[in-house]
Amino acid sequence: ALPQTEVILEGLNAAQRAAVASPALVLQVLAPPGSGKTKTLTARVAYLLCRERLQPWNVIVATFTVKAAREMKERIGRLIGDGLEAKLVLGTFHSIARRYLVRYGHLIGIDRGFGIADSADSLGIIKRIIKRRKLNIDPGVARSRISNAKAQGMGHSEYLAQTSGKKNVDTQEFAIVYEEYEDALAKSNLLDYDNLLLRCVELLRQHPSCVSNVEAVLVDEFQDTNIVQFDLMRLFSAYRKRVTIVGDPDQSIYGFRSAEIKNLKRMQRQYPDTLVVILEENYRSSGAILLAALEVIQQDESRPAKALLPTHCVGTRPVMRKLPSAGIEALWIVSEIKRVIALTGHLFTLNDFAILVRSASLSRHIESALGKSGVPYRMVGGFRFFDRTEVKTVLDYLRVISQPDGNDALARIINVPPRRIGETTVKALLDEAETKKITLWSLLGKAAQESITLKTKIPKPAEQRLSAFVNLIISTRKKLLQSDTAQFSPVQLLEFLMKKLSFREYLEKSHPEDHEARWANVEELIAQASDFSGSASDEHEDEEALPVIEGLEQRKSSSPSDNLSRFLANVALSSEVKDSDAGPGDRITISTIHAAKGLEWPVVFVPAAYDGSIPHSRAEDTDEERRLLYVAMTRAKALLYMSCPTKNSQKEQTTLSKFLSHKSLTPHLERKGPSFNYGLIQSISRILNRDCPSEAGIAGSREEAQALEDNLWPLTGEEKEIGENKGRSWEPDDQVSLPQERALKRRRH
Ligand code: ATP
Ligand code: MG
Repeated sequence: ALPQTEVILEGLNAAQRAAVASPALVLQVLAPPGSGKTKTLTARVAYLLCRERLQPWNVIVATFTVKAAREMKERIGRLIGDGLEAKLVLGTFHSIARRYLVRYGHLIGIDRGFGIADSADSLGIIKRIIKRRKLNIDPGVARSRISNAKAQGMGHSEYLAQTSGKKNVDTQEFAIVYEEYEDALAKSNLLDYDNLLLRCVELLRQHPSCVSNVEAVLVDEFQDTNIVQFDLMRLFSAYRKRVTIVGDPDQSIYGFRSAEIKNLKRMQRQYPDTLVVILEENYRSSGAILLAALEVIQQDESRPAKALLPTHCVGTRPVMRKLPSAGIEALWIVSEIKRVIALTGHLFTLNDFAILVRSASLSRHIESALGKSGVPYRMVGGFRFFDRTEVKTVLDYLRVISQPDGNDALARIINVPPRRIGETTVKALLDEAETKKITLWSLLGKAAQESITLKTKIPKPAEQRLSAFVNLIISTRKKLLQSDTAQFSPVQLLEFLMKKLSFREYLEKSHPEDHEARWANVEELIAQASDFSGSASDEHEDEEALPVIEGLEQRKSSSPSDNLSRFLANVALSSEVKDSDAGPGDRITISTIHAAKGLEWPVVFVPAAYDGSIPHSRAEDTDEERRLLYVAMTRAKALLYMSCPTKNSQKEQTTLSKFLSHKSLTPHLERKGPSFNYGLIQSISRILNRDCPSEAGIAGSREEAQALEDNLWPLTGEEKEIGENKGRSWEPDDQVSLPQERALKRRRH
């Protein structure tokens, strides 16, 4: 039985309830961080299913990340049970678009089993075009220009037309690259991220009946949608105008990827009876954290004033700490984590801590400090497990088998494991394919099967290996296409390939120092693939299914090759990464700020808070950088630490982020870490809604903390050198002493 409305509305405040149960067809919930937008959206989905009796497969819910999708699904599951949540069309815009294209893509000429080009693939293709055309433009810049044009719905001709006012060589060159890039994708039967959305828009424009079943569309983090996503949202809701979006303009942080804050106004224009609901109470953070975060966001003077009322007690002020180097900053974070756990009588576990960095490259010191002290961690966002060499190679094999016409993957693995096919040969082969206007795969396949001689000279031993390689791909593909699902799952395919390639032995030989870790990564990949195995009755199949629509020709997906392409799509579309040893256990989280959007932790660290890092030196929009810091700070529930090494990775002097050194903020920050007296521990327990440890229990763990503190500063190697050689400069900028100094003082007393 479905739960009663009361159960769904339980634990919501009046404004949230009004939004959840609103009879309005079009609803915008605009509210600051931690005010329960996602909670409200989730409850509204449950409400639509239980109260309005919508069928879950007729409800589309778009989230910003794969992780957010999973969490929302769990939350809805907990609210309504019955497994209905698995039947929702719920995921990121990209994954929803992909589902429609898999099912209906043939209606607009998209070949069955298209692959997804991730950003590395796109870059590779663009690099080749630039090289061949001998153009003098930066591939990365070209890629983001193309992507931005696409995100605004501009094709290459429109791009040229749009920019024709300033028709310089530059735009023309970009237009050429753009056009050839699209050709290359099409030839390889690949869609890049932007095309997934664009082609889905095209599909729904031409065949709107694909979504004739859709009753409601709900979107989280709406402030970060771009125009194409906005169009998709409108097309999804073309039959029934039932739309709920939640968002916060202050948290718009994807402008650099063409997200359009204007979409909020655009929506109000397009749906004139949009009801706007505002939430003002924050249920996440302590009063002191909110106050500091507000001081940051209010530095943007163009921003309209808004209420953000804490529901929790003030708690302790956020800490701002300067440290001599990034290495020492990392050690400080690790020691502070241990100190917090010990001093609060184990009120916290490692899962409660997150370290949020502006860019992935900043995590190096932190990872190594955590590694040295044996603190387990998981990494989220921006750190791509799937980008590790050995993982990428194995995935490339899968991609070639699934989609052999993708030149890039094929060219990458043609000599891995080594087959004595050098780079020059690969290049010559690519050129030959190019002149013959066929893909590399057709060229090799023809040579192997129809014994056409290649123009490219390949030495005898290499030739044999090459044809063995081509035959392996051909036979594996055959096997895949012919077998039924139960027989050849992605896992079995992987195991088969690893054996055929003697991949483990290859790793042993080529990476004697760390082959074990590399093989562990491969095993992790196999473990992830196992989620995708099995027959059509498998729950994942269900999860991905769209309802059948009468009168429309649609594909059923249940063959092993579909399982494989689903697995590969999942890899390409997930920005989240599991570290090879990251299970569900107790571990801290390292994430980019961008990927931390919508999430929350009891304790948050924001390291490297200096000018050049945040605001980032290459960022164009300072206001967006400020919002990024605001997002980072508002992830914290009870404790917030920000820090800044006085030297950056190039050993240059840094200055504290201008957002944090702003005079309005200074009075709200603390230099010293909190002392954790019992009063504070009680108020933290209240904020976290946890049982407060007894005073006696805390006294016990304080001794432990003391002992910890005495050896807590594990000065080794480089750090030790800094300490010894540089004498005073080792001290931070103020009177706050490092743990080891305190220990020294105690001993003196
Ligand atoms: P963000 O802008 O960061 O995405 P949000 O507005 O989506 O934040 P939620 O993540 O939905 O906020 O909620 C923040 C926290 O507050 C969650 O832990 C949620 O459970 C809690 N919360 C929300 N509303 C209430 C309420 N009415 N009573 C108690 N707790 C609430
Ligand atoms: Mg949210």
